[in-house]
Amino acid sequence: MTKKVLIIGSGIAGIASAIRLAVKGYAVEVYEANDYPGGKLSEITLGGYRFDAGPSLFTLPEQVDALFRLAGKKPEDYFEYEKLEVACHYFWEDGTRLKAFADLNLFAEEVQTKLGEPSGHIREALRKSAFIYDSLAPLFMNRSLHKLNTWTNPQAMKSYLKMGKLGIFSTMNEANKKQFNHPKLVQLFNRYATYNGSNPFETPATLNIIPHLEFNIGAFFPKKGMHDITMSLYKLSKDLGVKYHFGQKVEKVLVENGEAKGVRVKGEDRFADLVVNNMDMVNAYKTILKDQKQPKLLLSQPKSSSALIFYWGIKRDFPELDLHNIFFSANYPVEFDHIFNRGTIYEDPTIYVNITSTHKADDAPPGGMNWFTMINVPNNQGQDWDHLIAEAKRNIIHKLNRILKTDIESLIEVEEILDPRTIESKTSSAQGALYGNSSNNKFAAFLRHANYSSSIKNLYFCGGSVHPGGGIPLCLLSAKIMSEMIGD
Ligand code: FAD
Repeated sequence: MTKKVLIIGSGIAGIASAIRLAVKGYAVEVYEANDYPGGKLSEITLGGYRFDAGPSLFTLPEQVDALFRLAGKKPEDYFEYEKLEVACHYFWEDGTRLKAFADLNLFAEEVQTKLGEPSGHIREALRKSAFIYDSLAPLFMNRSLHKLNTWTNPQAMKSYLKMGKLGIFSTMNEANKKQFNHPKLVQLFNRYATYNGSNPFETPATLNIIPHLEFNIGAFFPKKGMHDITMSLYKLSKDLGVKYHFGQKVEKVLVENGEAKGVRVKGEDRFADLVVNNMDMVNAYKTILKDQKQPKLLLSQPKSSSALIFYWGIKRDFPELDLHNIFFSANYPVEFDHIFNRGTIYEDPTIYVNITSTHKADDAPPGGMNWFTMINVPNNQGQDWDHLIAEAKRNIIHKLNRILKTDIESLIEVEEILDPRTIESKTSSAQGALYGNSSNNKFAAFLRHANYSSSIKNLYFCGGSVHPGGGIPLCLLSAKIMSEMIGD
């Protein structure tokens, strides 16, 4: 008889898990609190403007392709993307502008011309980044850290021998200061800590693994926008027979004699052979697993940073702007001190402006642009957000006006705001953190929840708050690691 799986949440990891388990022959049903799939990876429309609501940077696209192939389909029949020629445009208040070309020779030349940094420094940094990736990805990204054979297999043995070179014993900032002469380049490479919501002045230099993804492998853009990652995988899962129940918030995981038996939704019990949870772990243990044994140490780990986003429909074109644009703070250490230690927003924040209409013209009316304007902010600890948001908006507008020599406020046609409170209420992320736990210490990787429950049989976990962590690629890998634990 076909075995049945119930999945709680249709975040990207929930959808990927549904695909993987449907391919294994399970009858899969997904319960989703929202009336749309995708969780953080969704979209909003405002007037004539479309915005990707959350993630904007797409790396490791082969992990999406792998799901279509696994199901015996051609990825290009569902999902198309292009490689970016320029990963990011960087701006500083003193007028310095830098383009991070995908072509390493061009980027090294740009850095040498604009900052006087020897091009060899860039090549060396990216060689080290590739080394960390090649050493650690097989161990940390592709396997459960909670199974003995992960630690005893030959690849793990090789990684132990390289331990001294993997950046475990210094911070990202310390390593980047050693690597580069120019403070602007140190700042540029320190920014990669924010890719998983961490602090470059605390996180181990091991996270210098991240530039490898953007530079050596590449940054990509889905031709129909980031939301198409969700929609194309959602379609695939439906083609495989997965059933979705939207607007159906799971109230409880049913557990009998140490075994998961199903879920309770709207007071009704739905039974299954397996339950997979894609809901944030901290909130899951507070709600749907509140009667179960709590893994207190794992649940008390500090969360990643959150974000404040202004979705702005801008009624003018800015030819100097591209898909990804960063306007750096003049004082990075103080900015991060505000985010991670003081729990507030610095007056001169680094601003990220993502404009998909540069690559997908119908995301804005002719002559306009859709600005997803984001700053990193502390996670929600009950701050006076209305006050902080009003102040941050003023500071962001003044900074953009200074650098772009314009009057942004008069160009904003439509606006919507997402802040740590609404990130939490829309997706159930504890404290509105973007990436689950932060990676601000060398033990963080070991203090994420496993992809299975050690106390409840037939209960499994996927998503950004469990191993191997947050961000689309890691969420997709969590689904892979989890489904490989489940028999056919
Ligand atoms: P989530 O997206 O967290 O979704 C969980 C789902 O579970 C939600 O749909 C929720 O409604 C549902 N749910 C929760 N509780 C219940 C319940 N009781 N019953 C039923 N359903 C429930 N990543 C990148 O790779 N690149 C980026 O550029 C990037 N930028 C980001 C920017 C922002 C503003 C945000 C918010 C995130 C960003 N991320 C980025 C991180 C990335 O979005 C997440 O790591 C990833 O999307 C999380 O997916 P998930 O599977 O963990 O589920």
